[in-house]
Amino acid sequence: MTVRESTMQWHSQIYSPYACGDGQLTQRDRPLEPCPLRTDFQRDRDRILHSKSFRRMKHKTQCFLAPEGDHFRTRLTHTLEVAQIARTAARALRLNEDLTEAIALGHDLGHTPFGHMGERILDQLCPEGFHHAEQSLRVVERLENDGQGLNLTLAVRDGIREHTSKGRPRTLEGAIVSLSDRIAYVNHDIDDAMRAGVLREEELPRPLLDILGHSHGARIDTMITDLYENSRDRGEIRMSERVYTAMMDLRAFLFAQVYTRHEVTVQEEKADFLLRSLFSYYEAHPEEMPEEYRACAAREGVRRAVCDYVAGMTDNYAVRRFEELFIPVHIGSV
Ligand code: MG
Repeated sequence: MTVRESTMQWHSQIYSPYACGDGQLTQRDRPLEPCPLRTDFQRDRDRILHSKSFRRMKHKTQCFLAPEGDHFRTRLTHTLEVAQIARTAARALRLNEDLTEAIALGHDLGHTPFGHMGERILDQLCPEGFHHAEQSLRVVERLENDGQGLNLTLAVRDGIREHTSKGRPRTLEGAIVSLSDRIAYVNHDIDDAMRAGVLREEELPRPLLDILGHSHGARIDTMITDLYENSRDRGEIRMSERVYTAMMDLRAFLFAQVYTRHEVTVQEEKADFLLRSLFSYYEAHPEEMPEEYRACAAREGVRRAVCDYVAGMTDNYAVRRFEELFIPVHIGSV
């Protein structure tokens, strides 16, 4: 018996009846020889972690554009926090932790530079619209690995595509990631907003803190524990009405008080101009894109390829390209 087979055997003994088993929804676009050591979902997790788009998330905005400090979240650290929260819930509920982790690590691979503002702009410029969850799926199916895709299992691809609040994942592991994403960003965006000086502790709505907790750690703990207690021995992932409503009210508070503040939106206007300029430039000069995107332009049209190229840029790379293309330099310095 291989290590993989014995892992699958003991998983089947400890998993809840609601878990996605190691042999379920493992279809791939191209068949693969089984790995002697790892299950299919462990393998998917590793493929995501070793991908270029995973590494690029370290230089993509999570909430605040161009933060100066080293302690602000990036898309990568957000992803790791989601994975940690989701794994805790999955293990407590005896669901498939490897599948949960793979979905969590892949869920935001398609995010644009400059956070949700980048997503809104590409949605206007891309012929068929743009949504980061769809783009994450496109990254793992068609863009990564020089256009070959990562050839992931159906369960992981489904969880990635369906991870937003409107999604309907086929597995409870996917549903855990969807809720963990919200738990992570509601909490870390408060922490980052206070670090940036755009929110003070005493401005947070008191009645919500009385329900959720008065510190970052206490709030995460309340939410995960509530998720666990309300999903235990059920075929669904849910939180209690009281805690879920408080969490979403806190999210609404952040939208009203933080994301729309002048200090935040003034940076977004600059990023808006920068991304539109890059998009127009590469639409007119598709031959200047890297080879993988030129191939995509030949296959699926220039606008689609430019959309993929711009969406894949990190904040830093987009700024560098903008400087090179649009900012004059002294002739002696080049
Ligand atoms: Mg996310």
